[in-house]
Amino acid sequence: MGVKLTGKLPDWVSAKDVILEMLRRHDVAGGVGKIIEYYGPGLEHLTAMDRHVIANMGAELGATTTVFPSDHQTLAFLKQQRREKHWKELLSDPGASYDLHEEINLSELEPLIACPSSPGNVVPVREVAGREVYQVMIGSSANPGMRDFVIPALILENRRAHPRVSLDINPSSRQILENLTEKGDLTLLIRAGARIHQAGCNGCIGMGQAPATHKISLRTVPRNFPGRSGTKEDQVYLCSPETAAASALTGVITDPRDLEKKLALKYPRYQEPTDILINTDMVFPPPADGGSVEVIRGPNIQPLPPTEPLKTYVEGPVLLKLENNISTDEISPAGSKVLPFRSNIPEISKFTFSTIDEHFHNRAMKYQKSGSFLVAGSNYGQGSSREHAALAPSFLGVRAVIAKSYARIHRSNLINFGILPLVFSNEHDWKGIDRDDVLVLDGIIETIRQGKDFHVKNQTKNKEFLAKCPLTSHEREVLLAGGLINYMIQHHLS
Ligand code: SF4
Repeated sequence: MGVKLTGKLPDWVSAKDVILEMLRRHDVAGGVGKIIEYYGPGLEHLTAMDRHVIANMGAELGATTTVFPSDHQTLAFLKQQRREKHWKELLSDPGASYDLHEEINLSELEPLIACPSSPGNVVPVREVAGREVYQVMIGSSANPGMRDFVIPALILENRRAHPRVSLDINPSSRQILENLTEKGDLTLLIRAGARIHQAGCNGCIGMGQAPATHKISLRTVPRNFPGRSGTKEDQVYLCSPETAAASALTGVITDPRDLEKKLALKYPRYQEPTDILINTDMVFPPPADGGSVEVIRGPNIQPLPPTEPLKTYVEGPVLLKLENNISTDEISPAGSKVLPFRSNIPEISKFTFSTIDEHFHNRAMKYQKSGSFLVAGSNYGQGSSREHAALAPSFLGVRAVIAKSYARIHRSNLINFGILPLVFSNEHDWKGIDRDDVLVLDGIIETIRQGKDFHVKNQTKNKEFLAKCPLTSHEREVLLAGGLINYMIQHHLS
């Protein structure tokens, strides 16, 4: 899909509003199976970090990937990082064409916001303006540039966040934190009442900063799937740093353009500095002899459970029949109760699908050795790239998922952990399957080797349907080995 950008972003509108506009038009499955390339004169003023904001949330569109050219803006970014010698111009081929066309006139965009609880529930901010806000969180991988913190700092300069609002700042990296400190922007935020957290994901993944139940939290993060924040009945909205800062100031969802009328506040002018602090003192190269490194494991850090090579026959029940757009947050939840077990697969597996079925783990364990299935709609595994959403089902004995379509990263994760990602040849067959139906797959290895369709037998309903498993030759080898780690051991370490 080619997305032609024309015009120039108006004051108070920024890169987050561009990707929210794409989500407004195409929703969370609109990018499935597509590579999205942005091009056109509108790129002229979009910095590398602006483009990062847009590309980061390409995952929310379900896109395979997002592409921007490497041009003067990427050169400026690499110069700032003192890496300009790595710059190369990379442009689309002259006369390149696209299968699908989209166009966004940046000059016509307005502040947008994704309402609970999907990044695709996008409306103009003015439509939900006035709702009381209890938390504003600025940061994350989706808005990691200096400007994403400096613009809010300048909006909040010499002002105080509304007393009802907990204003949380999550610097995206040590580099950002050091530069915000050096240049004084951090002081502006602290004076405005902000709480400064360590660099990293923090509340985006529900590690702290859980919002109050049923109370609105405005975040510049990429995802607001139900409960991801760590609060079951959360009300998370996704917006730009401008909308976040304006709402922190007023205590209600605010179209940042209204600050001009209400507070006579002009849109802050910000010029990306050409010279920033680059401190790599904390980056250590791996030792030449990596094999001598001792992995120190406490009781909560367990070795990765081994996966078995693919079996040729699987007979087992459908543990869950799922609808469209199941996110990895629903498969393997985030939150401070769960994530301390990230390095302990048997323990974290106990939370698999717990928000959908609290008995899932116990049911799955009965078939851990013999194998089981999951059945899903389209865009299965959207959202976070979390490996645990494949790793935990693999540990629990899930041998195949049969879905209408997959989010690209999750599909790769399934293959990497030895789970067959089957696709219904005829989507209508989804309707004919129920939870607990016993399915049979036979001749799996030969079918994969020959690249043929699978004949899936529904033993309970005494019916059969076809499923595809399109694989690259590398994916085929990985699956046959029972996952990427087995493949690496076989091909590179033995
Ligand atoms: S949890 Fe994921 S989406 Fe959130 S900030 Fe971290 S990397 Fe980004």
